[in-house]
Amino acid sequence: MRTAIYPGTFDPITYGHMDIAKRAANMFDRLIVGVANSPHSNKQPVFSIDERVDLARQVFQENTNIEVQPFSGLLVDFAQEHQAGVIIRGLRAVSDFEYEFQLSGMNQALRPQIETVFLPTSPQYTYLSSTLAKEVARLGGDVRPFVDACVYAALVDKMRQQC
Ligand code: ADP
Repeated sequence: MRTAIYPGTFDPITYGHMDIAKRAANMFDRLIVGVANSPHSNKQPVFSIDERVDLARQVFQENTNIEVQPFSGLLVDFAQEHQAGVIIRGLRAVSDFEYEFQLSGMNQALRPQIETVFLPTSPQYTYLSSTLAKEVARLGGDVRPFVDACVYAALVDKMRQQC
């Protein structure tokens, strides 16, 4: 069984993430969407780990070879625990590249047998990020074109709580 991991913060999951996950799931027997409990670079998530996992599970409920799992600690340990030989990351623009390249290099140094595979974003999601979706929602914009209906409802709720 060929298993890949698609890790991220998913705060919250967007159509851009879903597109990458579904395309990756077509290439492997099993795709594990790994939701990072302790995100990188001082990101302070708006949604709790349970909320982020729950939303990701809802959006992939019909995708039988995609499962969603939270993880803490090193990504390469999480990958090994699940016998995953491949880490999937999405690339939107050149600006993603530098960080992603460093990350893949570090993961390669830590666990050479695990490969990172980059998938380019589909053109309609080039500009889409969780950060921008949250910002638009916070300012009262309509984020329905960017996220699944369950994520939209959760975002509206969260923004109301934060007011
Ligand atoms: P992280 O905090 O690990 O960067 P994110 O949840 O922001 O987690 O993103 C997870 C992965 O999905 C990253 O590889 C990111 O580049 C990719 N990604 C995010 N948004 C998009 C998008 N619109 N199109 C393609 N890839 C994306």
